[in-house]
Amino acid sequence: VSISTNTPTSELQAIDAAHHMHPFTTAQDLAVKGARVITRAEGCWLTDSDGNRILDAMAGLWCVNIGYGRRELAEVAARQIQDLPFYNTFFQTTHVPVIALAAKLAELAPGDLNTVFFANSGSEANDTNIRAVRTYWAAKGQPDRNVIISRWNAYHGSCVGSGSLGGMTGMHAQGGMPIPDIHHIGQPHWYNEGGDLSPEDFGLARARELETAILEIGPDRVAAFIAEPIQGAGGVIVPPASYWPEIQRITKQYGILLIADEVITGFGRTGNWFGSETLGITPDIMTIAKGLSSGYQPIGASILSDEVAATLAQVEFNHGYTYSGHPVACAVALENIRILEEEDIITRVREDTGPYLKKRFESLTDHPLVGEASIVGMMGSLALTPDKATRAPFEAEAGTVGYICRERCFANNLIMRHVYDRMIISPPLTISKKEIDILIERARKSLDECY
Ligand code: PLP
Repeated sequence: VSISTNTPTSELQAIDAAHHMHPFTTAQDLAVKGARVITRAEGCWLTDSDGNRILDAMAGLWCVNIGYGRRELAEVAARQIQDLPFYNTFFQTTHVPVIALAAKLAELAPGDLNTVFFANSGSEANDTNIRAVRTYWAAKGQPDRNVIISRWNAYHGSCVGSGSLGGMTGMHAQGGMPIPDIHHIGQPHWYNEGGDLSPEDFGLARARELETAILEIGPDRVAAFIAEPIQGAGGVIVPPASYWPEIQRITKQYGILLIADEVITGFGRTGNWFGSETLGITPDIMTIAKGLSSGYQPIGASILSDEVAATLAQVEFNHGYTYSGHPVACAVALENIRILEEEDIITRVREDTGPYLKKRFESLTDHPLVGEASIVGMMGSLALTPDKATRAPFEAEAGTVGYICRERCFANNLIMRHVYDRMIISPPLTISKKEIDILIERARKSLDECY
């Protein structure tokens, strides 16, 4: 078969459905309605195989932070492929792009996070973290200290290790997960779970579940706590202000490592380079991916504090991926960071377009279906509810109304995601005010259509 962007859409969809197994998609859905075929993209706009222009309010999968179509990244990739398309970083070899990117990340990352271990994705980086923290404690003579505490409704990836850290139950129970010695505590999701408590009291209560878990498991058995500064895939759940300071106190008091999973919140998404800065977190390890290369190349990493790196340096860490520190991915990530810096994109998010988006996004709370709008920087969610006073969920199966709303957005050439009954946005950081207006207009129209 000869397949190109000129092949009719229905044919492309039929071949896709026959031969391509999609992640996180039910085959029945694809059989009923073929996948939308995206052929090009520029800035915040996608073009599909029928020529429709679609506003991408998800930046792909929370990743295309600098927007689509930046030629500089294509040129850097082409040059790097010619100069050195691949060499590994195992067994005492290295290369210039990986050295330059590691040094740049050490400069950008807060505190004493100065040492980088590369992977190809956020999932792999979190698998690295599981092995790293357990190896760290073994190197310190505490091999039984191997329990990692995570949270319900967290998303940390889809490998067996990172998937076990996840807490989206239906999704993460499949396929023999979790691996042993992973423990979950409640999430700081006040809107759905806070009941009569104030957000601040609820934030404290949920943080203290960490202390309870540590005491139950035994402080000398707990290796680390992992969390997203703001839960992303779980529905953009912004924690109450009381939450993170209390988590920080507890991890410090019991001497357990804190892993901030910044796969979504990194590289400007919250208006600072890292969500840890926005939320006042001092992690021992940070997971990054997505915005690191704006999705132009697959790359992820764990950034380690000086103390964690020094401890791991006492042993050989028998871990790595063929493509750890891939030269093309590193060169593209560096160019992406150069653009973020030189065009001052993150400052604009913090001081200009972010506040504008917040104001416009929050204006949707006057819609009868919208109980809450939560937004930090360029990540936000709308809680859909039939009863704003009680914050009750819909009687339909969780997610049904969100699904309908997402489908209406799709029909209106706007990509928003739904997680259960929350509607999510995470647009490219380069989105203009005019495009924000279009986003809000299309979101409102879509909400109207499912009311
Ligand atoms: N961690 C977080 C917070 C994520 O949101 C994701 C993906 O959405 C991952 C890890 C996994 O990253 P990847 O899909 O690159 O493996």
